[in-house]
Amino acid sequence: MRDFFKTVLYYIKPYKYQVLLNVMLNILTAIFSLFSLAMLIPFLGILFGSQELILVKPAFAFSPQVLLNTFYYYMSNIIVESGKTKALVMVSVFILAMTFFKNLFAFLANYFMAPLRNGIVKDIRNRIYNKVLNLHIGYFSEEKKGDIISRMTTDVQEFEWSAIASIEMVFRDPILIIVFLFSLFFISPSLTIIILVLLPISGIIIGRIGKSLRKSSGEFRIRMGTLLSMMEETLGGLRIIKAFVAEKKIENRFIAENEEYTKIANRIFRREYLASPLSEFLGVGTLMVVMIYGATLVLGKKSELSPEVFIGFIGIFSQIINPAKSVTTAYYRIQKGMAAIDRINNVLLAEHMIKEAENPVRISEFNSSITFKNASFKYADAEVLKNINLTIPKGKSIALVGQSGSGKSTLVDLIPRFYDIPEGEILIDGQNIKNIKIKDLRHLMGNVNQESILFNDTIFNNIAFGVEQATEEQVIAAAKVANAHDFIMEAPDGYQTNIGDRGSKLSGGQRQRISIARAVLKNPPILILDEATSALDTESERLVQDALINLMKNRTSIVIAHRLSTIKHADEICVLHEGKIAERGNHDELIEKNGIYKKLHDLQIF
Ligand code: ADP
Ligand code: MG
Repeated sequence: MRDFFKTVLYYIKPYKYQVLLNVMLNILTAIFSLFSLAMLIPFLGILFGSQELILVKPAFAFSPQVLLNTFYYYMSNIIVESGKTKALVMVSVFILAMTFFKNLFAFLANYFMAPLRNGIVKDIRNRIYNKVLNLHIGYFSEEKKGDIISRMTTDVQEFEWSAIASIEMVFRDPILIIVFLFSLFFISPSLTIIILVLLPISGIIIGRIGKSLRKSSGEFRIRMGTLLSMMEETLGGLRIIKAFVAEKKIENRFIAENEEYTKIANRIFRREYLASPLSEFLGVGTLMVVMIYGATLVLGKKSELSPEVFIGFIGIFSQIINPAKSVTTAYYRIQKGMAAIDRINNVLLAEHMIKEAENPVRISEFNSSITFKNASFKYADAEVLKNINLTIPKGKSIALVGQSGSGKSTLVDLIPRFYDIPEGEILIDGQNIKNIKIKDLRHLMGNVNQESILFNDTIFNNIAFGVEQATEEQVIAAAKVANAHDFIMEAPDGYQTNIGDRGSKLSGGQRQRISIARAVLKNPPILILDEATSALDTESERLVQDALINLMKNRTSIVIAHRLSTIKHADEICVLHEGKIAERGNHDELIEKNGIYKKLHDLQIF
């Protein structure tokens, strides 16, 4: 609970003036609400004729009794001059006016609350988005995508509900309850004490149920994440699902998960629905005790309480039931919201595994070489790379070959620090990459991967993605280098054609050439090509290969290639085998050696 309020406090800080305004308006609402109810007492007094007329104006003093008597003095004047009915109408008009202001202030309080509640949600969403952008890549292989989306959307929504509930619970309902209790105490201390004894008992009963809500709510949110993951996966895999006629299978999985989700949802909703009737019942119970005790005071020999004051008391007390009810509801909301906050904080407080150095070295160019020194790496348990020693001089092209799973992609992921190595060093121009400013380091590199990663946007914007501002000429020039210009011109809107989700409106070869154009435009000194052509057919491979050769001119490149024909001319070829560099040399030397490379080579010839 403390953590929850700390989090809420953190997020409402920028909106403190709105909160202040809200509190003041709430106080005004409470006061007007109280007065409109208190008017019941003189109304009944006049009606029953039990209120004595006050014909002498009391000397002014700032005490409740004197103010009350002054009010009665004016009322008595009206009664004497124009009769009881006129006086009753006057009181009614007064009540109506008070009620008008009470509701006006209540509306204004909510009015100023709107930017607050939406602002909090906006801020928290921005923070999660920023965090997701900046977290290390490894974090996401551990988490489900849909679960993260659910944290960014439904959990934030839940937090909104509970945060607002808690603000209301702290700033609105208690103000009402306290103002009412004070006035009740003023009217009849002994009756109020009974209330003060009975209220906490209700509180304990309500609290018991609330606790269990939190646990179920946590489970509920996890299930929501799983559901979203399934939807996300289904959307991405529709082609395969249909091709394998697996609709029924995947649908049954979804239905089962959805069923579980709904079961928990029912449990939670039922418990939550209990909040309002429970507190109303407990409130009315208290009311009955108060009424019976009050009645004995009214009927008693000493007549400690006049009937109209007693009815006024009951009237005011009945108004406590509503805010007390919303405190209960708010409390249940908060219990639910705490589970959401835990899940949001789980992302927000996740540790960055790739840390920027304290005083990072700024670099803007690449001068001599990239060096791996005894670099070892593992994802979880098994070592993926063992003792890699490799130097890539500026301007050379190095090829990595080896069986699938031998660690080639992992090796090139280490250079832009997608993962950090626990042992050994990777140096750029003699500087450990852990000391270099991460942005500067990544600015040096351009990537083209097996799967082209494009965004649902125009061709132009996809090519211009990696640079701040690109002119049309620059984009076209890059597209020409990438052998992409011709097919782009044939697209319906040329460079302004939208390419669909992940570029789905383009062929594989076209997508890849857009990725290459993007790398050309960024113009990085170091180029990393991870099986850039292996997903393509021979025809488009040739187009892409030409584009790649254009791209590699005058650059340092690390090329992972599936087809050995494409790396024949590399300056050095490293054969990775089970995480180690097993052989190295140029093509002819390696063939000569008659080892792993020769075997791979022979396999591809047939
Ligand atoms: P290659 O690119 O040579 O085919 P990878 O570098 O992709 O090989 O993978 C090397 C090994 O690391 C494989 O055994 C693979 O299962 C494992 N691996 C790759 N990525 C991850 C990851 N994110 N988490 C855990 N293990 C991984
Ligand atoms: Mg790979």
